[in-house]
Amino acid sequence: MAMKIMEKIRNVFHCEAERILYVCESQSLRNFIRKELLLGNCLTAGKMNISIDLDTNYAELVLNVGRVTLGENNRKKMKDRQLSKQQNENISRAVCALLNSGGGVIKAEVENEDYSYKKDGIGLDLENSFSDMLPFVPNFLDFMQNGNYFHIFVKSWSLETSSLQIATLSSNLYKRDVTSVKVMNASAALEFLKDKEKTGGRAYLRPKLPTTRVCVDVQEESNMEALAADFFNRTELNYKEKLTFTESTHVEIKNFSTTKLLQRIREILPQYVSAFANTDGGYLFVGLNEDKEIIGFKSENSCLTKLEEVTKNSIGKLPVHHFCMEKGTIDYLCKFLRVYDKGSLCGYVYALRVERSCCAVFAKKPDSWHVKDNRVEPLTEKEWIQFMVDSERVYKELPSPAGTSSPVSQSCPLREYINFKIQPRSYHLPGLSEKITCTPETLCRNLFSQHEGLEQLICEEMGSVTKGSLIFSRSWSLDLGLQENNKVLCDALLISQDKPPVLYTFHMVQDEEFKGYSTQTAQTLKQKLAKIGGYTEKVCVMTKIFYLSPEGKTSCQYDLNLQVIYPESYYRTTAQTVKDLEEALSNILPKENQIFLFVCLFILFFHCARPVCFFLR
Ligand SMILES: [Zn+2]
Repeated sequence: MAMKIMEKIRNVFHCEAERILYVCESQSLRNFIRKELLLGNCLTAGKMNISIDLDTNYAELVLNVGRVTLGENNRKKMKDRQLSKQQNENISRAVCALLNSGGGVIKAEVENEDYSYKKDGIGLDLENSFSDMLPFVPNFLDFMQNGNYFHIFVKSWSLETSSLQIATLSSNLYKRDVTSVKVMNASAALEFLKDKEKTGGRAYLRPKLPTTRVCVDVQEESNMEALAADFFNRTELNYKEKLTFTESTHVEIKNFSTTKLLQRIREILPQYVSAFANTDGGYLFVGLNEDKEIIGFKSENSCLTKLEEVTKNSIGKLPVHHFCMEKGTIDYLCKFLRVYDKGSLCGYVYALRVERSCCAVFAKKPDSWHVKDNRVEPLTEKEWIQFMVDSERVYKELPSPAGTSSPVSQSCPLREYINFKIQPRSYHLPGLSEKITCTPETLCRNLFSQHEGLEQLICEEMGSVTKGSLIFSRSWSLDLGLQENNKVLCDALLISQDKPPVLYTFHMVQDEEFKGYSTQTAQTLKQKLAKIGGYTEKVCVMTKIFYLSPEGKTSCQYDLNLQVIYPESYYRTTAQTVKDLEEALSNILPKENQIFLFVCLFILFFHCARPVCFFLR
């Protein structure tokens, strides 16, 4: 029944449920949709169990990871190891998704009773997952227990700290490190990919050795490789015969019991094939004991066919990203070498040769996440590589705002603001002219003359501010590419040295809720500051909603500061913060304004450059 109603709503509004939520301000209707939506989210997320928390007061992207056991001892004592692993995976993915989507908050319900963050900590396995992902955990994450809930505040990923564009849990690109197989960390993967991109996949051709190379008594890796090649080409092997070579960059030897053979080969193939293909090619032999003696495994023909099939399917499924034009498939050959004991067939050795690949071979998709269309989703290998390699292409894709399409901005306070920076024209509040600048001047004059009480209200609000700017707009929401709410009189953004940015919303409609509107605007502003403006420090945007009565009376309807608590570091603001925030704001300007700014800078440069030219002459 409920699903049918949802379907109807979707058809009437022609939009996703998430978007309906922010369109309707009626509490009961919102609650209904929210309930259905969360249900839908859980169904689609399946095992992952991460949903977007739409019930939050925070003007943030909040990811709900469900119930989690916390504390070092409690996590150690967990009997269900699978559950513990899954909880860790969920939280890591949520952290990764928020890092890549402009920051946000993770909300977990604490599973174990009597948990105290102060006394019990988080849990070593979780800490390790965080430090594997981040260069320095405290720079990115803050933890806070609030009753039975645990919050992780995640700052946006920043290019400066790591020289990587995005956060990654695992590249799933493997390499061969002499006799072991290792997954490349994100930095190593970046080097590897850049090299492949630079050479366009041509670097896989091996150099020809000079024929006049002197042969003395030296042993090197190429000898082992040549011996392995000879071994691979043999048609008959003798039981208990000893190998003449050992494991190396090009050779891996395994001995699996016959009962688990198929399963084990299926498990190891993606990593080994990825490693050999990404390094220098090589051989995998299965059916030799620890003393490098040929044992072989007993098998029927049907089993060999099955093994061959598993090999083919497993290698066929590996994601490959090509930088070359040829886009060849993974070059391999799978064989079964017959083992004879005193003339009679007693078993087989599984032999796989993998050639070095022209480009990048993954064991599976890279493990990197983001929030897209209101869902936590993995990046495809193509997206991941683009963001990793393309230094020009900063990861700017924003989680699509729940407030529908992006209309072309009509009024733009930013433009006025930048104009003001170059050619100061601001409104000064009586008694506060030294502390506060209100821009743009014309809009402020209009608003203050039309709405009795607004100027007085602003003066009172700014009383405690030491120094700052208040940037007015008819609709900050519209300026950020969201929908306008025509019942809103105006919004104003305060950037000051004393506290986090505050987004004020003023309206003249009694008995109506504007919380959804102002929360969505503040959340989008924060994300754009990080993803487009490049401001990736810890920051929160507070919201405050005021009702202006026609008689000139004013009353505060909502103050986010009284509803939520942020970690201490989110409240720290300095003169530098103000400067950086202003710069970030100028970066989220629409194009035409940037051109304006560029022209101004150019003129300035030209004036400075002229005397220099003259001097050089
Ligand atoms: Zn290629």
